[in-house]
Amino acid sequence: MGPKIQALLDFQDVEHQIVDIRRQFERKQRAVDAQQKKLDSFRATLDAERFEINKIQRQFDELDLDVKSRDVQISKLREHLSSIRTNKEYAAVLSQLNNEKADSSRQETKALEIMEQLDARRRAFNERAAGEGAERDRLAALVAELELTRRNFADRLDSLIAQREKLAAAIDPKHVELFNRLSGRHEGEVMAEVVRPNPRLDEFICGGCNISLRMDAANSVRTKDEPNTCKNCGRILYARV
Ligand SMILES: [Zn+2]
Repeated sequence: MGPKIQALLDFQDVEHQIVDIRRQFERKQRAVDAQQKKLDSFRATLDAERFEINKIQRQFDELDLDVKSRDVQISKLREHLSSIRTNKEYAAVLSQLNNEKADSSRQETKALEIMEQLDARRRAFNERAAGEGAERDRLAALVAELELTRRNFADRLDSLIAQREKLAAAIDPKHVELFNRLSGRHEGEVMAEVVRPNPRLDEFICGGCNISLRMDAANSVRTKDEPNTCKNCGRILYARV
C-alpha cells in the first residue's frame, strides 16, 4: 500500500474516533430530549386536569352559593309564616316555602354529587402529580450524564480534532475534500477494503458495499497509490496487499 492511501487510512482512523464520540453525545442528547418531551407532556396533562378541576370547583361554588341564598329565603319564609293570620295567606306562603325547600334540596344533592366528583378527581390528580418529581429527577440525571460525557471527552475530542487537522495538512486537499464528502454520506466509513472472497478465484468485491469490482479497477487499487472509488457506493478503495 502506498503512502497516500495509508495516510487516508490513518485519517479515517482518527475520523472514526471523532464520529464515535459524537455519536455518544448524540445518543445522550436524544435521551435528554425524549425525557424533556415526556416531562412536558406530563405537565400539559396535569395542567389540563387542573383546569378541569377548577372549572368543576366553580360549578360547586355557584351551587353552594345558591343553596345558601335559598336557606336564607327559607328562614325568611318560616318567620313570615309564624306571623300570618289568614288561612289563605298561610297556605300560599307554606306552598312557597315547600317549593323553596324542594329546590334547595335538589341543588344540595347536585352540589354533593359534584363534591364527590371533585374529591375523586383531586385524589387522581394528586397521585399523578406525585410522579412528576420522578420524571424531573430522571431528566436531571440524563442531563448530568450528558454533561459528564461531554466533560470526559472534551480533551480527547480536542486532541483528535487537532490530530485530524495535522493529518489533513499532509494529504492532497482534493482527497481531503473527497474524504469529507464521503464521511458525511457514510458516517465516517470512507475507506473500503478490496476483498477477495474466494482465494482460488480472481474475483474482488468492495468491502463497503459487497459489489463485484472489475478486474482493472481491482488491479488499479492494488498497484496505484491514488484514491480509486467504488462505482457503486463511492467509498475509497484500498488493498492490504
Ligand atoms: Zn462499494
